[in-house]
Amino acid sequence: MQTQLGRCAELIDSQVAQLEQELSELRRYLHAHPEPSGEEVETTRLVFGRLEEVGLDPHICRGGLGLIADLDIGDPPADAPRIALRADLDALRLIDEKEVPYASQNQGIAHACGHDAHTAIVYGAAKAAAQLQKSSTADQPLPGARLRFIFQPAEETCEGAKSLVEQGVLKGVDVILGLHLDPERQAGDIGVRDGVLTASCDEVDFRIQGKGGHAARPHHSIGPIAAGAQLVNALYQFVPRSVDSRDPAVFTIGKIAGGYAPNVIPEGLELWGTLRTIGRETRARIIQRIREIAHGVSEASGVNITVEFRNPLGSVDNDPRINQWLSQAAAEVLGPSHVKTIEKPSMGSEDFGVYLEHVPGSMYRLGCAPADGPSHFLHSPKFDIDERALGLGTRIFLRTALLISENYQPAGEAAES
Ligand SMILES: [Zn+2]
Ligand SMILES: [Zn+2]
Repeated sequence: MQTQLGRCAELIDSQVAQLEQELSELRRYLHAHPEPSGEEVETTRLVFGRLEEVGLDPHICRGGLGLIADLDIGDPPADAPRIALRADLDALRLIDEKEVPYASQNQGIAHACGHDAHTAIVYGAAKAAAQLQKSSTADQPLPGARLRFIFQPAEETCEGAKSLVEQGVLKGVDVILGLHLDPERQAGDIGVRDGVLTASCDEVDFRIQGKGGHAARPHHSIGPIAAGAQLVNALYQFVPRSVDSRDPAVFTIGKIAGGYAPNVIPEGLELWGTLRTIGRETRARIIQRIREIAHGVSEASGVNITVEFRNPLGSVDNDPRINQWLSQAAAEVLGPSHVKTIEKPSMGSEDFGVYLEHVPGSMYRLGCAPADGPSHFLHSPKFDIDERALGLGTRIFLRTALLISENYQPAGEAAES
C-alpha cells in the first residue's frame, strides 16, 4: 500500500510538472528586469502579488525589500518543525551580453548569479505547496509540514540575510534550506557537502596616513605610497606563510586609492582587500597576522596605518543530518548517481551562512549547465541556464521539507533518544 509520504511525493511531482512553463516565464521576466542589491523593490512587489494570487499572506520586509510567507500543509502537530526555504532576489551590476529575448532590459544590471532562478524555484515551491494543501482531505490527509518562504534582498553585498534575521524572519524556524545554481554541473545533477561549503569572508580596509610634500624632496615627507607598496608585498609574502599551507586561505588587495599628481607626495593612501578562509582558527590567526604586519610596516616607514575588518561573514556550514534527508529526496527525483559529493569547499562566500548561525540547515548546488551548449561561469556576462533545473530544484526542496517534517527531532532530543 502506498504510504502517505509516497502519495504526497507523487502529488508534488505532478503539481510541479504543471508549473514548469510558469516557472520558466517567471524566471525569464525576472531575468529581463533585474534589480541590483538593496534596490529589489519591484521584484519584491512582483513576488508579493504572485504569492497572494496563490492564496498566501506574504509580509514585506523593511524598506519594501524582500518578503516572507508561511504555509502549513496537511495537519501538522503543534511541535512539527517549521522549515524555511530561502531565495535571493538581487542581480549584479554587470552588462548582460546574451542575445536572447529575455536579456536584461536594465542597462548595466544582470542576473548573472542565477538569483532569478532561485526566486522562481522558491515561488514554485510555494505555489505547489498551496495546491498540495487543497489535496489534503479528511479521508486522505497529507503528512503535515510547516513551511516558510523567505525571499531576501542583497545577497551579493552580504547584507540581506543579516537584515532579515534582525527583522525576525527566523522566529519560529527550526530548519532552513537553500540552493545555489551551479553552471559547472549539468542540469539533472546536484552537489552536496557536509560541513563547510563556502569560505568565510572579511573585508579589510587599510588607511595609511603619512606626511605630504614635494616629490623632489621626499626627505621632507613621510611617503604613504612607498609604505603602501611595502605593505602589499609584506602581506602577500607573510600571510600565506602564517598558517598551515593545507588550510585554505586567500588574501587579496583589490583596490588602492591615493595621490593627486606625479610630482606630489600625498598625505595618505587607502587599500581595500578581502580575506577568505576555511576554519575559525585559520581566520583568527590571519586576522592577527595582518594587524601585526601592518604595525611592522608602520614602524619601519614612519606612517600611521589603521586596519579595519568589516562585514564579517561566516562559512556556510551544512548540517549532516539535514544533508541526509536532502540527498535522499534528491536521489528520488534525480537518481542516486546524480547526487554528487562536493569534495572541496568553495573559497567564494554566501550570506546563507548568516541563517546557519541561528538554525541548522543546508545549502546544495543545483546543476544548470545545458547538456549541449557552452556553460558560462557565475558572474560572467553571458551566464545562462538550462531551465530544467527550475522544476528539479522545486521538487527537491519540497520533498526534502516533507522528509524533514516526518523525521526531524531537535539535536538535543535526538541525542538522548
Ligand atoms: Zn553572486
Ligand atoms: Zn549567488
